[in-house]
Amino acid sequence: MASSIPERSTAEWQALDAAHYIHPFTDHAALSKKGTRVITRAEGVYLYESDGRRILDGMSGLWCVNLGYGRRELADAAYRQMQELPYYNSFFQVAHPPAIELARLLSEVTPPQFKHVFFTGSGSEANDTVVRTVRHYWSVLGQPQRTVIISRHNAYHGSTMAGASLGGMKPMHQQGGLPIPGIVHIRQPYWFGEGGDLSPEEFGLVAARALEEKILELGPDTVAAFIGEPIQGAGGVIIPPPTYWPEIQRIVDKYGILLVADEVICGFGRTGRWFGSEYFGIRPDLMPIAKGLSSGYLPIGGVMVGDRVAAVMTDQAGEFHHGFTYSGHPVACAVACTAINILRDERIVARVADDLAPYLQQRWQELASHPLVGEARIVGLIGALELVKDKASRQSFPDPGEVGLLCRDLCIANGLVMRAVRDTMIIAPPLVITHAQIDELVEKARLALDQTL
Ligand code: PLP
Repeated sequence: MASSIPERSTAEWQALDAAHYIHPFTDHAALSKKGTRVITRAEGVYLYESDGRRILDGMSGLWCVNLGYGRRELADAAYRQMQELPYYNSFFQVAHPPAIELARLLSEVTPPQFKHVFFTGSGSEANDTVVRTVRHYWSVLGQPQRTVIISRHNAYHGSTMAGASLGGMKPMHQQGGLPIPGIVHIRQPYWFGEGGDLSPEEFGLVAARALEEKILELGPDTVAAFIGEPIQGAGGVIIPPPTYWPEIQRIVDKYGILLVADEVICGFGRTGRWFGSEYFGIRPDLMPIAKGLSSGYLPIGGVMVGDRVAAVMTDQAGEFHHGFTYSGHPVACAVACTAINILRDERIVARVADDLAPYLQQRWQELASHPLVGEARIVGLIGALELVKDKASRQSFPDPGEVGLLCRDLCIANGLVMRAVRDTMIIAPPLVITHAQIDELVEKARLALDQTL
């Protein structure tokens, strides 16, 4: 049977796009002036536009295609599973081998407190599941008043009502009356932007202690959980000072509240450890996962449920009234199993830690001397450049976002995807990038910075 996706020219795709397609997170008036860019295929770390132009994908799609594009094994896994059992649910006392096998594999690659997983279709659904799980947990334990979840300004935890509420993005809260009740936000550990005269170490403690202040303000017996991304990704790759997470761990332990590490971006090798929590040495009770779980080849997410919560969920709780039609979708699970096996067999996480991260770090730091760059920061294969008006004083530009967008467009013109978060340029390339491709990424970024000046 012929493909259902016909051959069309770029102009034809653009016209159809403008006529029919509402894109996520897009200003359509602005888009209609430019016309959408149409990506038709991809291989390794490269995307190809409809006019054949090749672009190095410095963002792994949306931080997800960690194994790079065109992995035949992942396509084969999907094809086989679609023929064997394309769909069945795992509600109501049934399950199927791909979901059970993926649950087993996840218990092997995650930190030891995790032996259970709840599957979802995305990272946002994973974070909705977190809200319901946390409240269910405390309710079963006879403390139903513990409902408040503390998160952080500028966090990103997804786009559903609960995910966007956990997130701390003001423009998202303004549309639709968020956050939902029982979710509050404290400051983020953003030393470059908010650290003032404090050293990163001092600021890390100050930012973490905002959690204790909030717990005391609300009353410790009303607080259910704290949630944070080990490194805030969509907020601008905010790498916390080394003092931050240990202090957070001390505080959640002191008050007995649950710790949720949103590993949707940091998970599956991004930091050079399997999970960002391991990089920062923390012990979360719940870990939302998605993206790198299937290397973005099919939509799938989940929540890793630590022993403390699992004991209550599986032994004492009765029915948890929660689930999605595509929780544990067999094809997505089969692909995710294969993605995890590739990560293991090819020792990709160790290669990131021992080889790729040190090389990218060294090359990335070369950009710190550029006149536009106030800070170049990076952990593993996730990094940022802070563009500033004045390096010495860290003074930002008067019109936030304008310079970042210009730099982003110049990157694209030079054949590189780098994303702009206001005036912070961010990267998260596939974990299979080579040294030569890292050189290409850094040189194209430098060229764009020069052109932005
Ligand atoms: N959590 C984090 C840390 C994310 O970065 C994202 C997406 O970027 C999400 C959750 C939401 O995931 P999804 O877009 O799959 O719903």
